[in-house]
Amino acid sequence: MDITPETPWDSTPDVSARIVTAIARIATVLRSGMWEVSTSENLNPAQAEILQLLQHRTRGVRLTWLAKQLSISAASASDSVAALVAKGLVRKARAEDDGRATALHLTQEGERVALRLGYALSFADAAASSLPQEQQVQLLTGLFRLIAQLQKTDRFPELRACLSCRHFEPNKYPGQAVPHHCALVNAPLPISFLRIDCAEHEPTDPASQRRNWESFA
Ligand code: SF4
Repeated sequence: MDITPETPWDSTPDVSARIVTAIARIATVLRSGMWEVSTSENLNPAQAEILQLLQHRTRGVRLTWLAKQLSISAASASDSVAALVAKGLVRKARAEDDGRATALHLTQEGERVALRLGYALSFADAAASSLPQEQQVQLLTGLFRLIAQLQKTDRFPELRACLSCRHFEPNKYPGQAVPHHCALVNAPLPISFLRIDCAEHEPTDPASQRRNWESFA
């Protein structure tokens, strides 16, 4: 009978499992930080997240999009939006691209509350910015690659990220240190400047999105 020698590290979970555990723990800490501030604003977590999702969006968003971003049903999203409208933080308007549809926007007060909510995670921002710049870029790149893998599972909600934007021109300068380009501002786009949530984002077609994420993964 073969006997495999034991080492003190045999029971250590795989690196991949520990990455997932670490991200889950960080998410818990971030959620708790957000919870403290949202409670002080008299908002539940879903309402706080909706205000943040609506921030910096000039065109407004649809209810179905919000529900997808929050991974909740349209009915639950509708309840949260109704509460925010009653509080004077969200307003409904006609969608620019479809007069029969409704788009959701922040009111001025909603903008102010969303700004205060943004400070809730400043402790995490401070921790990330204390890492050396090179490590920050490596970490950001690794997270983009992980998101790219998750995109393949269709479990990741749509992002206003460069990799799904019609202005993104991947590998416009092949072999260069900065190969990508943003056509909107007509400038090379370094990895360290790739955005996860860009106010100027305009979705590209699904095939290009898939190609961009796959080339990054
Ligand atoms: S910076 Fe904004 S506009 Fe430019 S490619 Fe990225 S998401 Fe699109």
